[in-house]
Amino acid sequence: MLLHDKFGRAITDLRISITDRCNYKCVYCRTGNEGALYGDLPFADYLRMARVLVGMGIRKVRLTGGEPLLRNGVVEFVRELAKLRPQGLKPQVSRGDDGTAKAVPFQGSSQDLLDGDERLDIALTTNGHLLADLAQPLKEAGLTRVTVSMDAVDPDRFARITRVPGGYDRVLAGVRAARRAGLWPLKVNCVLMRGFNEDQIIPFGMFAREEGLTVRFIEFMPLEEGRTWSPATVVTLDEILARMAEYRPLVEIPHGRSETARRYRFDDGVGEIGIVAPVSHPFCGHCSRIRITSDGKIRTCLFSVWDHDLHAQMRRGACDEELAEFIQGVVQKKEERHHIGEPDFVPASRTMVHIGG
Ligand code: SAM
Repeated sequence: MLLHDKFGRAITDLRISITDRCNYKCVYCRTGNEGALYGDLPFADYLRMARVLVGMGIRKVRLTGGEPLLRNGVVEFVRELAKLRPQGLKPQVSRGDDGTAKAVPFQGSSQDLLDGDERLDIALTTNGHLLADLAQPLKEAGLTRVTVSMDAVDPDRFARITRVPGGYDRVLAGVRAARRAGLWPLKVNCVLMRGFNEDQIIPFGMFAREEGLTVRFIEFMPLEEGRTWSPATVVTLDEILARMAEYRPLVEIPHGRSETARRYRFDDGVGEIGIVAPVSHPFCGHCSRIRITSDGKIRTCLFSVWDHDLHAQMRRGACDEELAEFIQGVVQKKEERHHIGEPDFVPASRTMVHIGG
């Protein structure tokens, strides 16, 4: 069985948070204080979860956090992940009543089977603070690509947003190291929050062109610790496009159905920007993601009001087939869509830093 939810959406993308610790305290994500942590698991546990899920049709794994590069051993973890081969569902081995292994016949469609040579797409989302030294080892271990979060291209503003002095130069060095290492496509994510950085739109357009990378603007979502979100704080897709057009004309690039970002290039072909607009232009109907939190819970939506404890199943000794059954059941509960900005909106049960964005 490949993973599909009850709305017929194929689940092919997995995000694993490998820690909920973070060395930045970005204003749109955290309060200035250290909050309580949910904690993290040994890498072997995430690896087993990933292995079972790859056997169920996951083709892309994104490592996130907290700040994933704070975890010692992340390079070795990527090396192990890179040994997994996405293959749809191959014949599986389960335990018979007498405890012996027996093959379970394949029940999917043959067109869902990959050829076995395809590599798992392994991506990383990081604040980039520790990336300069890790980019090359991560690439050699099998990381495919990286997204670096940067919310200003001005060192002072950057420090005000992250609440960490001196980070800008380190992150820029990390971005450039990633490019040298061949971690491609290289993307920079910028969350726009009114009153903090909407004046960075055009500077980021220039940055995308100068650095030859994709800058993706993300609409601010109500997932922050301080509960400061309101519709007025969101800088929307339309506003970003209008502001950027004052700098240079943009041409829309066709994008894949489950891609979160709408993509644009500048009229002269130099530089690309993307806009992820979950608030003004929701894309839930094409969502192909599930998440595992650092403490081993499955979340079927960023805005879920509950988690599903996969690690508890492992602790009680479930075999891989039982884990797969549990996951299948959880995926059936995937929410149809989020309700941001609607009167019935209920805040998620965790904030972004403890989910893994
Ligand atoms: N520490 C890593 C980083 O900075 O990229 C990974 C974790 S961070 C939670 C993942 C992404 O979520 C970042 O790009 C961050 O900007 C984004 N993010 C955090 N809070 C957000 C919010 N309330 N709305 C939209 N994006 C948010």
